[in-house]
Amino acid sequence: MATVSTTTTPVTAPHFPQQVTGMYILARALKRIGITDVYGLVGIPITEAAYLIQGQGIKFVGFRHEQQAGMAAATHGFLTKTPGVLMTVSSLGFLNGLTATVNATVNCYPMIQISGASDPTMVDMNMGTYEQLDQYNTAKPLVKAAFRCSHAKDIPSAVARAYRAAVSGRPGGVYIDMTTPALGEVMDADEAEKLFSDPVDIYSPVAPNQPSVDRAVEILTSAKKPAILLGKGAAYAQVDDKIKTLIEKYNIPYLPMSMAKGLMPDAGPLSALSCRSTIMEQADVVMVIGARLNWMLNFGKGRWNENIKFIQLDVEPQEIDRNRAIAAPVVGDMGLALDAILAGLEGKKMSTDPTWVPSLQAEAKEKDAKFATRLTDNKTAMPMNHWTALSVIKPILESNPDVVLINEGANTLDDTRDAVNMSLPRHRVDCATWSIMGMGIGSAIGAAVATGKKVVAVEGDSAFGFSGMDFSTACRFNLPLTVVIFNNGGIYNGIGEPLDKTTDPAPTTLDIHARYDKLGDAFGAQTYYVQTPDELDKALKESIASRKPCLIDVQLGADSGKESGHFGYLNPATLQHITV
Ligand code: ADP
Ligand code: MG
Repeated sequence: MATVSTTTTPVTAPHFPQQVTGMYILARALKRIGITDVYGLVGIPITEAAYLIQGQGIKFVGFRHEQQAGMAAATHGFLTKTPGVLMTVSSLGFLNGLTATVNATVNCYPMIQISGASDPTMVDMNMGTYEQLDQYNTAKPLVKAAFRCSHAKDIPSAVARAYRAAVSGRPGGVYIDMTTPALGEVMDADEAEKLFSDPVDIYSPVAPNQPSVDRAVEILTSAKKPAILLGKGAAYAQVDDKIKTLIEKYNIPYLPMSMAKGLMPDAGPLSALSCRSTIMEQADVVMVIGARLNWMLNFGKGRWNENIKFIQLDVEPQEIDRNRAIAAPVVGDMGLALDAILAGLEGKKMSTDPTWVPSLQAEAKEKDAKFATRLTDNKTAMPMNHWTALSVIKPILESNPDVVLINEGANTLDDTRDAVNMSLPRHRVDCATWSIMGMGIGSAIGAAVATGKKVVAVEGDSAFGFSGMDFSTACRFNLPLTVVIFNNGGIYNGIGEPLDKTTDPAPTTLDIHARYDKLGDAFGAQTYYVQTPDELDKALKESIASRKPCLIDVQLGADSGKESGHFGYLNPATLQHITV
């Protein structure tokens, strides 16, 4: 958690010692609450505010597109358990950024979007003022909380309450409408200083009730075929040791969701990563830790064992029973819930069927061996396909576990997620609950800034298109980010056939000959164009070692990849034959 500054440095602006502006108060408010980084894109009316923020010793990462600045802030929030802050201008800048703030809210990441806004009295009278938009009411239904500052005196309170709202309970995105009158208002410096207070317990974990813990312990210890499902909420909560203790002491197999990979090692002896169907079909008790039984988990129905009992640990009471009855909800902060469960388990014995874990281990061994043939069979394929490239990338990333992996695309996402084993928590960020495209470069920048670690983003060529220009931001800030682009010339692939004899490209077709590396050259990055596994091996190893912004354009065949989505009901089929 950020420590709240207790210094009493006056908020005096250097040139006008007796007076300060709302912009200055905003900069001080962010500093005092412990914000270290702000991601944004300036213009009227926030340009000077951004300078003042920098003047407070806060890093201001200036982007080329607000959506990417927002993705950076969201990823910052997920990785640090403190709000990532996004700053934008009004109207379009606000809307571009809002996309990311809403995505953060859906993904339960804490973040605060602060947007400059026109005078609300003019907006309310529909006077047609500069960049007129009722931003506050636009954002409000889509975010966790929203505030509008019309006076400079409200700014410290808005910032502190936004922080509280972002991190408390289920984390999410918060919006502050920072109006021009509030930013420009001049206040007496001594009066402004009195606006600040140091919030007590800005993150206050709430414990689950004891009967709910007892019920969960009872059900878990009576299980014959128990399993633990780890979600990104478990990764976010930073309770790694407690989860490890629960799993190892009670010998419970675990299945991680994509962003919980590495919380426990993917290749560990109790990992059921490759036994997902068996867990769904056979487990009789599944403890869901920080995951939602949504579309990614078949809504907890259908393929799951009919008689399964779910124990669900979640901070959000309304998540319980959302799609199916939960036998043992444990509602509260993850750390306190796990402490209580571990205490309740003390001295108790599990009733696990002695064949359960060995049978999963045997299945995992068999499935892993089968999966490995996909990599070995394609190792030398020319032109390269996704598996050829991954046969090179997998060993490099696995021997650099401290690299944060960002991943988006269609086949590039599915195949990289399945191929690369993670061994450290919070080292994998992907397109998450909405499975959206266009989070990659922003997230990669947020991860690099928030952690100071090396970052590798594995991107499909289409996915990269959404955020590619912000690679220049990584270059300007000299971040240790390597972007690997799997270029198969299209969305899904590059072999779509247009209907009706049009000479236009098919809807899925991009450019198989695009030289994305040249985009990197424009901004002074270290770049590579690779066509063979050996070239890729050399390029990726050099890039990771360099700690510089690097871009590797990986030339795949246009026929590598297929329309993804393993859920028939999500992909309506036409009655016509279509080659995608
Ligand atoms: P995944 O996509 O990995 O399955 P989800 O985003 O669906 O994960 O679920 C994460 C869950 O974790 C959410 O329901 C959220 O309320 C919960 N959560 C997030 N932070 C905490 C926390 N600190 N304590 C308890 N639960 C949390
Ligand atoms: Mg592609």
